[in-house]
Amino acid sequence: MRALVVLLCMSIVTSEGKDPKVIIVGAGSSGIAAASKLLQNGITDVTILEAEGRFGGRVYSAKFGEYLIDLGGQWVHGEKDNAAYDLAAPFGLLSKAVGPGRTEEEPFIHRYYTSAGEAVMKQLGGDFFTFAIACSDDPTGAEKVKNGSFGEYVDNKINEYYGNHTEEITPDLRQGLTHAAKLAIMASEGAADLNDLSLKRTQEYVGARGYQAVNWKDRTYNTVLEILMKKIPNAEEELPIANKTLLNKQVTKIKYNGDGPIKITTSDGSEFTADHVISTISLGVLKADHEKIFEPALPEKNRNSIQGLGFGRNAKIFLYYDEPWWDTTEYAISLLIWTEADRKEIENDPEKIWMLGVGYSLPVEYKPKVLLLWMSGLYCEQMEKIPDELFENQTLELIERFFGKSHNLTQPKDIIRTRWNTNENFRGTYSYPSLASVANNASPEELGTPVTRNDRPVIQFAGEATEPDYYSTVHGAISSGWREADRLINFYKQQD
Ligand SMILES: Cc1cc2nc3c(=O)[nH]c(=O)nc-3n(C[C@H](O)[C@H](O)[C@H](O)COP(=O)(O)OP(=O)(O)OC[C@H]3O[C@@H](n4cnc5c(N)ncnc54)[C@H](O)[C@@H]3O)c2cc1C
Repeated sequence: MRALVVLLCMSIVTSEGKDPKVIIVGAGSSGIAAASKLLQNGITDVTILEAEGRFGGRVYSAKFGEYLIDLGGQWVHGEKDNAAYDLAAPFGLLSKAVGPGRTEEEPFIHRYYTSAGEAVMKQLGGDFFTFAIACSDDPTGAEKVKNGSFGEYVDNKINEYYGNHTEEITPDLRQGLTHAAKLAIMASEGAADLNDLSLKRTQEYVGARGYQAVNWKDRTYNTVLEILMKKIPNAEEELPIANKTLLNKQVTKIKYNGDGPIKITTSDGSEFTADHVISTISLGVLKADHEKIFEPALPEKNRNSIQGLGFGRNAKIFLYYDEPWWDTTEYAISLLIWTEADRKEIENDPEKIWMLGVGYSLPVEYKPKVLLLWMSGLYCEQMEKIPDELFENQTLELIERFFGKSHNLTQPKDIIRTRWNTNENFRGTYSYPSLASVANNASPEELGTPVTRNDRPVIQFAGEATEPDYYSTVHGAISSGWREADRLINFYKQQD
């Protein structure tokens, strides 16, 4: 009730004395953040149109055994200048889960298993993996890279590393290790292909500082949406965002010609009008559909960034075990190292080639019976298309190959996989700075440039890919939603 009174007191009106009508396309983190800020600042005629039958977008909480797991965004990456951390930390909802073998400086223990079932490289410990991941922040050697790709840079660095560790790393291990390290880097940088990732832009990435693997304890990342909606800390003060959201409404047309209202159509034939549209449609969907959705065509600036920026491919496979077979007293990332012979065999098998996209396995904090397999690259789409039974058998085969000899394996009770890349409402996972974006001066700022009429924002863009400093993350998405809400709030303040 109190929230309602606050909203009524601060109502904002257009020059015709009407409430400005805002349609937000997408009920992910950025859409909900935008709605939350608008409602708290007197812009109350807000409708969210969401294509899926649920809230959250790439933040997606699913029941798995007795737990809730994150099919999308999972960790809060950083503690400083991080909107998600700032929202949740005061309520004690977050944890660094530093524990046995896990410190703030060295958040993961590293293990290495080959596809022949051997545990290898004990002598190097975490060294190789830490080294490979740290490449992103290490500018030395960048000048040697000719074409500007991160892939070339990583190849140079890894070769240098091998040169210094010839005794520990056999030639047969090299290729498998390089492959696994690249998949891990693709996961952290978001790229579908490291040879398409810009070295310069990656090294300029600002990001939120501090611990990069903050978790939500027994909760999931969609808790941050509940905080944005004000369900947390006090359910009685919840903002009416759920009531203002229409699910299963896939926007197929946004007509913004002339000075009249914007006309929005959804795939079920429903029609809506608005004074302002905030689009949070993912970069992947924009790449595929922006020409069909927007009429007239978007300005050159927006189109340049839609084409130029990269949109990555990642996937998760979760397994639930009544009796975990891995050591649950440590938090270890296990890199999967393909032997040359096994790799060749798999490469020639179109049904199994997806297995080469699994970079590592890791346990899930606070959910000790769950094991997560992380995938990167174009293999993810192949995995998503495999029929259920075959997929489950192949996943078990993968686990048997790598861990069967070194562990007493048990049978999982449940397996779940994500399908971000083949879902037409996402078409990938998160954005990255591609080589084309550098060549064409495409940037998140450019993508986020609003379309205006006489200085009035008409079509605005939010979403992780529009956030210059924190793209690819949930906190970046939240900041972008707030940014676009502020643009409207400030526009109406200037009209007073
Ligand atoms: C597997 C995976 C792991 C990740 N891990 C992390 C992590 O650990 N930490 C982190 O910070 N980030 C992580 N991310 C990234 C993070 O989840 C995203 O950056 C963030 O959630 C994006 O929010 P958004 O609002 O920009 O977009 P979205 O969440 O995609 O929201 C856009 C919404 O628009 C809807 N939509 C699309 N097209 C239409 C249409 N035509 N009409 C109507 N609605 C439409 C979609 O259904 C969606 O709900 C991960 C993402 C994935 C997929």
